[in-house]
Amino acid sequence: MQQTGLAHHTSAMRSPFQAFPEGPASCRFEELEVPPELSVLVLAPHPDDFDVIAVTLRRLRQEGNLIHLAVLTSGASGVEPGFCLGGDWETRSELREHEQRRSCRFFGLPEANFEFLRLNEDQAGHLTGDEDNLERIRTCLADRAPDIVFLPHGNDTNADHRRTYYMLRQIAAFSELTLMTFLVRDPKTIEMRDEVVTFFAQEEADWKAELMRFHESQQHRNLNVRGYGFDERILRLNQETAARVLASGQAEESASPQEATPAAASPDNAFAESFEVELWEEGRPSTLAYRAG
Ligand SMILES: [Zn+2]
Repeated sequence: MQQTGLAHHTSAMRSPFQAFPEGPASCRFEELEVPPELSVLVLAPHPDDFDVIAVTLRRLRQEGNLIHLAVLTSGASGVEPGFCLGGDWETRSELREHEQRRSCRFFGLPEANFEFLRLNEDQAGHLTGDEDNLERIRTCLADRAPDIVFLPHGNDTNADHRRTYYMLRQIAAFSELTLMTFLVRDPKTIEMRDEVVTFFAQEEADWKAELMRFHESQQHRNLNVRGYGFDERILRLNQETAARVLASGQAEESASPQEATPAAASPDNAFAESFEVELWEEGRPSTLAYRAG
């Protein structure tokens, strides 16, 4: 069994489980008052998944929380042939890792705080759920002993996102981990609850767009396929999320869910990153919805 700092710090952190004992509702990320002692691991199936939640991670870094990034796959299959002419798997992998390195440098994440695991992939370039991959994620979790893990939501059209979520569940149960998971809303998420929400304004959206554009291969692919870039794709999602959460009237600061009145849309909450949370206590998971039920 692995002990992390979370058990000792939950009293200091206004966890969503304490803030809303009555059931699922949105709360602002800032309201959680995450203690700076809590360490964070981002389990990113692909290079660029870190950037999708960059504003939330930036807030944590500014508060002094230790952040570590583990990129699970090479991301080679996400590079268009036209972007990397004649590029073999190794060349395309190095290209995507180079993009993530530059993005991390811009973010201010030191080299020692990120790693590229290059887990096994099948012939189609998808992450496999084999023993070897499980063991390497398990080792990463044991080494970093995170209190909070950010990873994709399992209800997602992307196979790598789904597999990452289910492997984490397997490991957390088997190793009896105590930690909190923040499941990320991504453009490929099918459906999830917006339980913790990080609102941000245009200034931070501009910073995030600049960060995302370091992923030149993805910027290029999105422009080709969709007619707009990776940066715009994510910021559109963030705008839709903000509008939906505000319309649902659940993000009013320091109001109980019962008394919540819709917060007015303003430039300060034009964009939002959002998360569904799970609390793992010695390998047993619970969600807000479960606790409410
Ligand atoms: Zn991804």
